Amino acid sequence: MQALPRFFSTDENGNDEREFLSDFFENRDVMLSSIFLKGYQWPFDVRKLSGGSSIIDILVYMERSRGRRIFLDFRENPGREPVNFEKLDQEAYEYLRRAGACYGTPIERLSHMNMPAVEFYLGRGVDLRTKPLEIAVCAQHNNGGLAADAWWHTDVEGLFAAGEVCGSHGVYRPGGSALNSGQVGSARAAQYIAARRQGEPDNTGESFEEIAGKAVYDAEKMVSQVTGEKEGRIPVRELWNRAAVRMSRFGAAIRNPEKIELAIKEVQEELSHLGASAWVEEKKELWLAFRLRDMLISQFVYLSAMKDYVDHQGRSRGSALYTDFSGQKPDPRLPEEFTFCLDDGSSADLIQEVSYRNGKVRFEWRKVRTIPEDDNFFENVWRQFRESQNIY
Ligand SMILES: Cc1cc2nc3c(=O)[nH]c(=O)nc-3n(C[C@H](O)[C@H](O)[C@H](O)COP(=O)(O)OP(=O)(O)OC[C@H]3O[C@@H](n4cnc5c(N)ncnc54)[C@H](O)[C@@H]3O)c2cc1C
Repeated sequence: MQALPRFFSTDENGNDEREFLSDFFENRDVMLSSIFLKGYQWPFDVRKLSGGSSIIDILVYMERSRGRRIFLDFRENPGREPVNFEKLDQEAYEYLRRAGACYGTPIERLSHMNMPAVEFYLGRGVDLRTKPLEIAVCAQHNNGGLAADAWWHTDVEGLFAAGEVCGSHGVYRPGGSALNSGQVGSARAAQYIAARRQGEPDNTGESFEEIAGKAVYDAEKMVSQVTGEKEGRIPVRELWNRAAVRMSRFGAAIRNPEKIELAIKEVQEELSHLGASAWVEEKKELWLAFRLRDMLISQFVYLSAMKDYVDHQGRSRGSALYTDFSGQKPDPRLPEEFTFCLDDGSSADLIQEVSYRNGKVRFEWRKVRTIPEDDNFFENVWRQFRESQNIY
């Protein structure tokens, strides 16, 4: 983005090319500055909508919603005219000036500033020197996830959740901390497992059959259903695509509470009839039916959590814009869907916890746990280390 590529959209077949950003930005230098800052500030952030870089996400999102495909073109400058660097926003101009990149086309600037980026795409079959790159707005982070303790141990005994799947990312997270969080979590979980979970599995008194029997029975039933007659059923891949589209429409960056409620009903309906409605053509596709079931359960839990958040007067924050007609639009030219109220931080010390059992969700809101006071007195730390390696 800092190389200032040309954005354009086309129809489904790649025809009718249009530089759609210039419909919104009357001033080309402001548009270029926003493109630059989009790269600089990256994740979609409701605080950066009004006159900020996240307006680019909204414009891409709106254009995609019209059924258009969006591309970044590094071969030519936006508007196919040279960039007047000195007219850019001060931050953008200084950055490009200091990088020695105030010249030429986007691909020339990108190759100069970050050749590995060009090579990265080349390694995946996209030559930015000759082809545009298709894009869409996507979720950068799973801001939420499985609850775990300081050893990344979940409340399911023996199940550890490190990385994006764990709810350790919070609403905002500093750049770079996601990969670190996964690495630190994995290392701590491994330390804990090596030190504390040796020996034989716990003997709960119940046999494996007693514990897992129902789940195995349900799984077998689903297998025989989805591999049955094709008549009146929907191929599992089609159901998968529908579910993915639904989450992008209703549970991604732009969240309309009314539409979320409808989406929850739809997911519940699909989940309860999955075995009867899905069809798997070949046995080797069976895994997809099971993943689809997991995906639908996750959608149900996440969408229900969004509804519960709104029911608790939750407002727009992080990478989520909740449509709220009592608020304001970041720009009068945007559709009503983009009317929202910014969160005032009053629930920043609360954690929303959801549990899913027997097809139902249950919510609890609790206070954030305070960070314990450190007792770094040498003798105590040393003794604890000898006793437990400080793994407790
Ligand atoms: C565009 C973008 C830019 C980012 N930039 C940064 C950055 O600069 N710095 C930073 O720190 N972080 C960044 N992040 C975040 C970071 O990449 C992620 O937090 C991290 O990669 C998560 O790693 P993970 O191993 O936890 O999960 P993933 O890498 O998502 O791995 C999960 C794996 O599980 C597989 N899987 C899912 N479901 C199933 C199933 N049912 N059965 C079997 N397999 C399954 C998936 O296919 C996937 O391979 C970025 C993310 C994005 C999207």
